[in-house]
Amino acid sequence: MPTSDRHDFASDNTSAICPEAWAALAEANQGAEVSYGDDRCTEKVRAQVREIFETDCETFIVFNGTAANSLALAQLCQPFHSVLCHERAHIETDECGAPEFFSGGAKLLPVGGKNGKIDLALAAAILAQHRDVHSAKVRALSLAQATEMGTVYSPNEMEAVAALALEHALFLHLDGARFANAVASLGCAPREITWERGVQVLSFGGTKNGLAAGELVVFFDRALAREFDYRVKQGGQLASKTRFLAAPWTGLLANDVWLKNARQANEMARLLEEKLCAAGGRLAFPREANALFLHLPNDIAEKMQARGWHFYKFLEPDVYRLMCSWSTTTAGVEAFATDFQAASA
Ligand SMILES: *Cc1c(COP(=O)(O)O)cnc(C)c1O
Repeated sequence: MPTSDRHDFASDNTSAICPEAWAALAEANQGAEVSYGDDRCTEKVRAQVREIFETDCETFIVFNGTAANSLALAQLCQPFHSVLCHERAHIETDECGAPEFFSGGAKLLPVGGKNGKIDLALAAAILAQHRDVHSAKVRALSLAQATEMGTVYSPNEMEAVAALALEHALFLHLDGARFANAVASLGCAPREITWERGVQVLSFGGTKNGLAAGELVVFFDRALAREFDYRVKQGGQLASKTRFLAAPWTGLLANDVWLKNARQANEMARLLEEKLCAAGGRLAFPREANALFLHLPNDIAEKMQARGWHFYKFLEPDVYRLMCSWSTTTAGVEAFATDFQAASA
């Protein structure tokens, strides 16, 4: 690979492991310890999550976000149920049918909506069409926070979603692969966009925020977590050496490192927006977290790629995504912006 190859903005999972997570992993790397989730690191993560969310929730560790989402939804749904989600939701477009597979057939019902957010009128229209046994009973609503388009639902928007869910007796699931970025963006308490807004289950992402692997499934309604440990094991998601998935989480959740990392990612996206828009760039969606979606003439994108920058086209004909992470630096943003200016000239 040429040394000029740069993956900084391709995704937030091209980043390294953050120092605090790495140190916590090193610290856990001694002696023998109980396996299968009964270790001290896992116990500590559970306590930290209860503290952060200020409630008595129940936490499980799985390997990745697809597993977290799929197993969470499978826990909420029978095979004859269905789940409302945005048409661009990761569970709909990027999980290879895993939610349907693990739930044994529960159907995803894609809903349109601007800027990656579910349009509640469209959701209500779909609900109105699902009245009897001839269509899969709608049982859950799944939101991404932050969304796949880099936007964030405000607490008020979450309240409106929660009202619809309550009216139709739907469970509310949050895909929080970028939950930290949403909290950092809103500057709110985590409870304000989760259980206080009717969320029963959260997939809490750490990978894109500085870990190597390991996402949390957090149940705010503990009754719903019943026998979830069996589902995790059957799904091939129970690590025997749980401490090594949990230890980095303890480093991430201590001293608000998870928020510090997310703030850095968000701030770098803000700076990137400032620099690229000053050079003629045009946003496709509002920048509210750590992603930038740009309308980019394809020839400029190709010139940038020829200069070694890797990033993806997200939407035809011309929308490209640039992601920032905890490890994105001002120097990295400036290097990209300088090349962007040259490519646009
Ligand atoms: C990255 C991501 C996930 C998790 O993906 P995995 O590759 O399975 O870890 C889930 N939801 C969203 C919105 C994501 O961006």
